[in-house]
Amino acid sequence: MTETAKGYHVLTWGCQMNEEDSEQMGLYLEQLGLAPVATAAEADVILLNTCSVRRKPEEKVFSKLGELRELKEERAGIVVGVCGCMAQIEHEEILRRAPFVDFVVGTGQISALPDLVRAAWARTDGQAPAAVRRKGAGRALDLPERKGAVVSDIPHRAPGRRPSIKAHVPIMYGCDKFCTFCVVPLTRGRERSRPTADVMAEVRELAALGVREITLLGQTVNSYGKNLPEGRVPFAQLLGMIDGVEGIERVRFTSPYPRDFTDELVEAIAALPHVCEHVHLPLQVADDALLRHMHRGYTLAEFDVIVQKLRAAVPGGAITTDLMLGYPGETDEQFRNTMEYVAATRFDAAFMFAYSPRPGTKAADMPDQVPQDVKVARLNALIDLQNRISAEKCRACVGDVVEVLVEGPSSRNAAMLSGHTRTLRMVHFPGATEATPPGSLVRVRVEEGGLTGFLGTPV
Ligand code: SF4
Repeated sequence: MTETAKGYHVLTWGCQMNEEDSEQMGLYLEQLGLAPVATAAEADVILLNTCSVRRKPEEKVFSKLGELRELKEERAGIVVGVCGCMAQIEHEEILRRAPFVDFVVGTGQISALPDLVRAAWARTDGQAPAAVRRKGAGRALDLPERKGAVVSDIPHRAPGRRPSIKAHVPIMYGCDKFCTFCVVPLTRGRERSRPTADVMAEVRELAALGVREITLLGQTVNSYGKNLPEGRVPFAQLLGMIDGVEGIERVRFTSPYPRDFTDELVEAIAALPHVCEHVHLPLQVADDALLRHMHRGYTLAEFDVIVQKLRAAVPGGAITTDLMLGYPGETDEQFRNTMEYVAATRFDAAFMFAYSPRPGTKAADMPDQVPQDVKVARLNALIDLQNRISAEKCRACVGDVVEVLVEGPSSRNAAMLSGHTRTLRMVHFPGATEATPPGSLVRVRVEEGGLTGFLGTPV
């Protein structure tokens, strides 16, 4: 096989940071002359960009690897690589259960992909029988040397971007907070920020390519700016700089860390015209004893102060959150505390999940794990409550006029377009891309509110 060969396919699990990494992986593979294809079955190079935050996506990765084993047996010469957070901390298990994998690459070494694929082609000449590779011949690892060592460099950014109206821009990597349940500090390494000049250059380049909406990414995105060679650059200041880039209509960020949510940041969201009126502020649980146990670094009262300040400074804004049920030792009363706070605070939406122990984290070894049936019952009760609130809040917007950034034809109806509001609600409305191309800003009157979005009419 030569570098003119065919197609690649990247399967992605997990967060927006992983989605962004997958796009970067694609750009690196395109340096080899590969083009994206729609399915793994058509591809010559298949990458699995994995997630370790919960057990379920890990199980899905192993199940997918089972399917790919059969594909490799049918088609000699395809290359399979495993990347992302599982690759970082579970490479031994991956190679034990899937010895046919050609390489495993960590979260900070995406730029090594072209070399790893070339090496896989060279080892097999692209045509070696799958049986040879199933024995594990010539597997490559590109991971930190010590098992469990964390990545500390800032990943290289692949040159070039695909034209799109929305883009993610990572501004920091890793995390220093070490919440007891979370594997991120082990998979993504310690907190480090990209130099401001790099971030600004990328944002300007994206604006010149026609991008209208930027989402700044980081595990604790608002902790940005410490230990930079140019000196400290607070996140609120960076937002102000990006807000001024010509062509960028909307700026979002995810996910902020409550303890680092400063008054300056609240003021920036309120004052900067392109920064959207939506904050995703992860709470996890509404119980001080559990928050302390998790090492979250804030009390419920401190979290609530941020919510109140945001609501006062940004009327009509949306606040969404993350909620975790079934953390070790969570009692019925502590669960009720979370339910009561959710009922009283009325988040616009929430990402809700049951705790699952992650190997290597403190919480995984705690003795008082909550039984699965209790976790499921609590999660279902919380989802019922939050969904009712989300739907009520959407219905309360009927009659409002909202600004929609058009993303393209609606998936619901060929005669409609869709896009998001500044508060991140999806809107479907009559229209066609000939008259209203993607990237247009349209004012739409809300006619009907659903669980996560609206049906409307352009005004
Ligand atoms: S702040 Fe806590 S939950 Fe968030 S990435 Fe860091 S360790 Fe994980």
